[in-house]
Amino acid sequence: MSQEQGITPRAKDFSAWYNDAVMRAELADYSPVRGCMVIRPNGYAIWELMQQALDRMFKDTGHRNAYFPLFIPQSFLEKEAEHVEGFAPQVAVVTRAGGKDLEEPLVVRPTSETIIYDSFAKWIHSYRDLPLLINQWANIVRWEMRTRLFLRTTEFLWQEGHTAHVDEADAEREARRMLGVYRRFAEEWMAMPVITGVKTDSEKFAGALRTYGVEALMQDNKAIQAGTTHNLGQNFAKAFGVQFQTAEGGLDHVWNTSWGVSTRMIGGLVMTHGDDVGIICPPRLAPVQVVVVPIYRSDEERASVTEVAGAVAKSLKDGGFRVEVDAREGMKPGAKYYQWEGQGVPLRLEVGPKDVAKGQVFAARRTGGKAPIPLAGLVEGVRVALDEIQAGLYQAARDRREGASRRGVSKEELVAMMAGDGGFAYGGFCGGQDCETAIKESTKATVRVLPDEEFRSTPAPATCVWCGKPSVVEAVWAKAY
Ligand SMILES: [Zn+2]
Repeated sequence: MSQEQGITPRAKDFSAWYNDAVMRAELADYSPVRGCMVIRPNGYAIWELMQQALDRMFKDTGHRNAYFPLFIPQSFLEKEAEHVEGFAPQVAVVTRAGGKDLEEPLVVRPTSETIIYDSFAKWIHSYRDLPLLINQWANIVRWEMRTRLFLRTTEFLWQEGHTAHVDEADAEREARRMLGVYRRFAEEWMAMPVITGVKTDSEKFAGALRTYGVEALMQDNKAIQAGTTHNLGQNFAKAFGVQFQTAEGGLDHVWNTSWGVSTRMIGGLVMTHGDDVGIICPPRLAPVQVVVVPIYRSDEERASVTEVAGAVAKSLKDGGFRVEVDAREGMKPGAKYYQWEGQGVPLRLEVGPKDVAKGQVFAARRTGGKAPIPLAGLVEGVRVALDEIQAGLYQAARDRREGASRRGVSKEELVAMMAGDGGFAYGGFCGGQDCETAIKESTKATVRVLPDEEFRSTPAPATCVWCGKPSVVEAVWAKAY
């Protein structure tokens, strides 16, 4: 990839386009350690904005941050049977350290339920200690053979919420509440429409009672799981002895939930909004929302134009926007545009001598369209433009997803769809493991969710797409990342 060649068009090879777009935006880089990635400043800045927004939402819903060790005694993982079975193939184990073999091997955390609930057992005594609502920002390691930047890497960054409750109803409310938080974040910040619902038993988290997910459809019509929340029941509480004195004076095990989203969302953002020029950042998550480019030919023009550009940037910064002035010398405006477009900056303000004379700047949207904004109404004009870009990105992604969704599919349609363009296929499901497995083997599509009520079809499908028996629940199938 070079500036002259541009990046691979999406229609030619979406996967190559994705890698080109990530590299061109300087979001990430390959690392000398196979399976790992380097997150570059441009990518990390997006992650920081994601963190800030989510962290605020977590705190607004009563959660507090804490930090637990990277290493987990191997015996901890083995205490919950399904959990260890689910994660065993992916764990990295430290057997030697400090120049000698360890008495007990240490697992590098693939997720932290076990070590956190070991602490919960010490902290929780009475129903008055509940609910306990904790979140951790951390890195985790799940060994991967085939990796993709952001989407699938051996080490990644995430947050994991871990909570304890007095009963099933309260744990269920929490799992649902956090699913709602993830949905709101996806829609309002990432401009990424999602469907929510419960996972089938074969797709649920190892050790959970129920797993809920938010699912988005990428431009290649493959699904991405953007976040999951789990009602863990009392499985872990029993394994780790997390008990409490009930209000009635008895003794009971707590009910746990856990929930997480990761740097994978950056991959989702790229694949939801990017075009053949590169990535497009939704304004609310754009590290640079506005780039100001002074345009001049003579030294005289340069002086006046640069002064106005500086004043424009200052008033926008004062207005609360993230702004850069690109005053680099010896570089043509076109080359600057190309660079900022590749980084997905939503709005570019061009300040030329004619604009200065007219008391305006020229605003070019990354999503297309150019229009002047008068300097007198600059802050408001920029605010309106960014809001429109944010809303437009969401609407375009939603229209695209709906265009790639089919409801009430038959077996033949499901097979043809997954062999062809892909997308979300809504259909009846008997709930049988046999059908789920057969569909996965025949079409490579999995049940993404059993959709929540507002996403379901009316009337509900009558028969299972695969076996023709009565449908007990509607399902959404797609090929997934
Ligand atoms: Zn069936």
